[in-house]
Amino acid sequence: LTTVFSGIQPTGSLHLGNYFGAVNLWKSLQNDPANHLIISVVDMHAITVPWKPEQLRQNIVQSFIELLACGIDPAKVVLFQQSSVPEHGKLQWIFSCLSSMARVDNLPQFKEKSAVQKEVSCGLFTYPVLQAADILLYKAHLVPVGEDQVQHLQLAQDIARIFNSKCGKLFPTPHRLHSDLPRLKSLRDPTKKMSKSDTDSRSLIQLTDSPGQIREKLKKSVTDFKSEITYDLAERPAIANLLMLYRAVLDVSLEKVLEETSKINKVELKARLAEAVIELLRPVHGKMKELRNDMGYLEQVMAQGTDRARTLASQTMDEVESLAGFRPAK
Ligand code: ATP
Ligand code: MG
Repeated sequence: LTTVFSGIQPTGSLHLGNYFGAVNLWKSLQNDPANHLIISVVDMHAITVPWKPEQLRQNIVQSFIELLACGIDPAKVVLFQQSSVPEHGKLQWIFSCLSSMARVDNLPQFKEKSAVQKEVSCGLFTYPVLQAADILLYKAHLVPVGEDQVQHLQLAQDIARIFNSKCGKLFPTPHRLHSDLPRLKSLRDPTKKMSKSDTDSRSLIQLTDSPGQIREKLKKSVTDFKSEITYDLAERPAIANLLMLYRAVLDVSLEKVLEETSKINKVELKARLAEAVIELLRPVHGKMKELRNDMGYLEQVMAQGTDRARTLASQTMDEVESLAGFRPAK
């Protein structure tokens, strides 16, 4: 059995990048009985930057609704809210004490994210250590992450090694699982990835967007001065991004997309893409509406996730605490 751990921050409605880069991969993983898939709505990570309690509350529920609406099956996956499993914080503390300041200070994402904050929290600095705890608490073998997370996964590997050699062998080395789809880019700036936390809502298409919003955002998406359609990632990154999105939505090869688009212009491409995205999201919208009207079911899914995750986490934590010296050795 291969344990796969993945997390998603409840920082807003999922966008098409999350959908194709993460959720779709999870859906294929959940259908292989050789995988033990664990997906966490990582709300403790969502407060490493300024947050509003009411917004967080809504975002957590919304994340569950969207994951279920996209087809994540709680019967096949341990789907849970991070803060409902106190072992994450406990293990994070021990890992903090095993990580040197210099090692954590070297991580590039902190520099990027802290540069745009007025006041930087200690939590933002140590969040990669919490991420290591998330992964190792379930003794995960595989972690699907993008390039932006590679250094964080290396930290988790280092912490596993340090714990194993200091306290006793417990953790397997977590490896990266690649998704074959490149990151979707912002519709406003093809040099940036599409992100939930982008302050410009026109930069991303979210699962909650209406058909009108989808048409509008694609129509206004930045491109270049040429009108014909060619795929050139270096010279025409915005068009390449739209073509990659079209390819993902239709679930066909790039060749097939280029064949279809060889005789049309950008305006027509955007229009066709919009209709394809609207079609893709139609059933998801229906499912989200159903789930919103069935809060009882949602609460049941969340409670079951907590139960199952806690059972696994408390087992690991017992072992950690005896190996680390907090309790009699086993
Ligand atoms: P935030 O801006 O709050 O960090 P995010 O859009 O980066 O939000 P995350 O919750 O950090 O989303 O990531 C959830 C998952 O989605 C991760 O597996 C991540 O690799 C994937 N992902 C995020 N953005 C993209 C993208 N633009 N294209 C493909 N996959 C993405
Ligand atoms: Mg992110």
